[in-house]
Amino acid sequence: MIIDNEACGICEKCIDLCPLNIIKRNVFSVVILEGCNNCGKCLEICPCGAIHEEV
Ligand code: SF4
Ligand code: SF4
Repeated sequence: MIIDNEACGICEKCIDLCPLNIIKRNVFSVVILEGCNNCGKCLEICPCGAIHEEV
């Protein structure tokens, strides 16, 4: 998964939810680190529609 930082409202909901704990808050953005298994949980919870599958 990848986060569109233009759309992300930095609500941080996805950070606590990720079972692999690979979503991290930076100063001005939220990013997904290596190792995502595409479980889809973050994509479902994001209120901004900012998370997308990588193509
Ligand atoms: S798809 Fe699942 S494993 Fe990947 S970042 Fe989102 S919650 Fe974490
Ligand atoms: S749930 Fe969506 S809006 Fe909230 S921090 Fe994650 S990517 Fe950004």
